[in-house]
Amino acid sequence: MNKLKDFIEKKMSMSHIYQPVMIKVLLENGGTADKKTIAQNILSYDFSQVEYYEGITNNMVGRVLRKNEVVSRYKNIYDLKLFKDLSSSEIQELIDLCDQKIEEYINQRGTKIWEHRRRNRKAIPGSTRYKVLKRADGRCELCGISKEEKALEVDHIIPKNNGGEDSIDNYQALCFSCNANKRDTDDTDFRNLNVKYQTRLSDCIFCNISRNIIAENELSIAFYDKFPVTSKHVLVIPKRHCNDYFELSQPEINAMNRLTHELKTKLSKEDTSITGYNIGFNTGSDAGQTVFHCHMHLIPRRKGDVENPIGGVRNLIPGKGDYKPKLH
Ligand code: AMP
Ligand code: ZN
Repeated sequence: MNKLKDFIEKKMSMSHIYQPVMIKVLLENGGTADKKTIAQNILSYDFSQVEYYEGITNNMVGRVLRKNEVVSRYKNIYDLKLFKDLSSSEIQELIDLCDQKIEEYINQRGTKIWEHRRRNRKAIPGSTRYKVLKRADGRCELCGISKEEKALEVDHIIPKNNGGEDSIDNYQALCFSCNANKRDTDDTDFRNLNVKYQTRLSDCIFCNISRNIIAENELSIAFYDKFPVTSKHVLVIPKRHCNDYFELSQPEINAMNRLTHELKTKLSKEDTSITGYNIGFNTGSDAGQTVFHCHMHLIPRRKGDVENPIGGVRNLIPGKGDYKPKLH
């Protein structure tokens, strides 16, 4: 007793709940338990998994069974209709029938029925998962909840079986709830996706750019502006032809964002006179856009390059840069 107590109280260094759960299961089962029993007990503490199946219960199975008038629901409670009319032998007979149906289904389809849970976890290497979670600052990229509050999963933005890439730009961190909702509701038509990303126009200068390219990744490319506002003014564009920022897909935004970070590191390193940047998209001719292939300006700034830099991009309307806050 003392040895075990000492271990649990003092020696057990926990990086998760696993150790006390396993010891507790063994204590509760006469000192012996198989791997499966231990795993099932660990699972019962994983509220994120439970929450996932709560979603399934309410939105899928519960809905179907209610529609067929097998169950009724009040708030979080489900009632089996006609239960009070059943004798105990009838209850047992129905339980056996359910067991039989479950067994038949599993025998027929094998472990494939859990593939949708398995795929995500296995396919993405740990180092990539780490990068995605780090990029997301440890928060769900849809609802913003932190990883301390809900387990985060790494998700393919465009599903793999719809042509989505295994690339960091096509990954996002989602909490269990957002990921489950996405699975239930996402009916975006992703067909022809790879074809879409190959869209180039023969008469578009940026679709055909080949000179002065300084960086690229799968979906985006960067080159020096031909008429630079300042030295090393760079344009970052999606490889696919689209008119402006609002037509970009999330993987393209990710790709361009990643390239922008790389460029900032590169430019700041090779030119130490750079002390700031202006970053911006002109969208629509009234906003000054002249080339109608989406592009982002990355404009290095240097101390003293204009007399009064205050307001930065606010200066696109002359005289509006230097504002005076209203005093109440
Ligand atoms: P915007 O006014 O935002 O449409 O910007 C278009 C940008 O493309 C301008 O900054 C131009 O200097 C730049 N530009 C135009 N033609 C070329 C070219 N052939 N190669 C590189 N940059 C270009
Ligand atoms: Zn183009």
